[in-house]
Amino acid sequence: MDIEPIEELDLGGSQLGACRFDVEPSCSVDLGEPIQQQSGASTGHFSTIDSHTTVARAPDQTPVDQMLLAFTGRAWEAEEMTQNPAAPTTPLGSVGSLGTAVVSGASSGIGAATAIALSTIGFDVVIGARRVERLSEVAKQCPGPVAVHQLDVTDDGSVNHFVASIPECHVLINNAGGALGVDPIATADIAKWQTMYDTNLLGTLRLTKGLLDKLTDSGNGHVVVVGSIAGIEFYRGGAGYNAAKAAQHSFCEVLRQETVGLPIRVSEVQPGLVETEFSVVRFDGDQDRADAVYEGLTPLSALDVADLIAFIVTRPPHVNLATTLLLPRDQATVAVTHRS
Ligand code: NAP
Repeated sequence: MDIEPIEELDLGGSQLGACRFDVEPSCSVDLGEPIQQQSGASTGHFSTIDSHTTVARAPDQTPVDQMLLAFTGRAWEAEEMTQNPAAPTTPLGSVGSLGTAVVSGASSGIGAATAIALSTIGFDVVIGARRVERLSEVAKQCPGPVAVHQLDVTDDGSVNHFVASIPECHVLINNAGGALGVDPIATADIAKWQTMYDTNLLGTLRLTKGLLDKLTDSGNGHVVVVGSIAGIEFYRGGAGYNAAKAAQHSFCEVLRQETVGLPIRVSEVQPGLVETEFSVVRFDGDQDRADAVYEGLTPLSALDVADLIAFIVTRPPHVNLATTLLLPRDQATVAVTHRS
């Protein structure tokens, strides 16, 4: 049986900036406040951001904006800017700003890498998770405006407070989640199943429901759900996690139907084996057991998944990558892997 693994994170912003997107890191962040407030509705910039980011987004910096759009695959917008520099080129806020992206579960793994990636390509990011200190470390690696907020997606009050503090939202990355244990059904721990359901599915529901109006109002909203191969392929010991991720898959399918006709896209990413803290959490801190999950193969990194998410949210507004299964080359199905 193969289960999804985990990694000790190395999410160097310079790695992203230099290798993946080639965009200068440009922002230092004051993490003294639980959340940094946005100011300037016309620009969408955060008030605590230093001059670098403002410079990168000033109206007279069009070439930088065009470069950024080209780097992020938004050549279609860069082209439009060339033909008519005065025209608004994106429904995602002001020229040069790709809008506000909210990332749940951004304190480690895929969420952290995604927050850094989206910041690097030009989004203002709002990041949430329970471990604020870890969020602060992630924020330091975000080159653009970032707001940090403690968030427990299983808690209605926490989500309501989080949602209320977000003035606008163009992209929502529902990433918070994970698995607990590999007990067979015969000895299943009900509390673990409830937590998995509450975090993966109901957390996604709470955040999406809370931000749906803002996503619609943005004129080009995008809901991305980090599901899993475990939501479409099932395995012994996986039932609780399988059920939670399968439910997330159903959620995406239905939300896409219910929002058709609105300026909203719904995309689900289904990663296979990714080396994050996932398996350490799953095995209750047992690092050796977690390491064994991806021993002898090359799993995906959190950055690989972040790359895909960055690609998905930077397609032209009429293009929706609805469901994407992302596997390492060494993995063919949830259970069939090649190990040396
Ligand atoms: P990870 O490193 O353990 O990250 C999980 C993130 O979720 C952490 O930031 C954690 O933050 C957050 N989280 C957990 N419970 C939360 C809660 N109640 N409220 C808010 N945030 C919460 O694992 P990962 O691999 O990056 O997992 C991210 C997503 O990818 C999950 O949905 C997972 O199911 C999915 N996935 C992972 C793999 C894999 O192989 N790693 C494969 C497919 C899908 P705090 O603990 O600080 O709250």
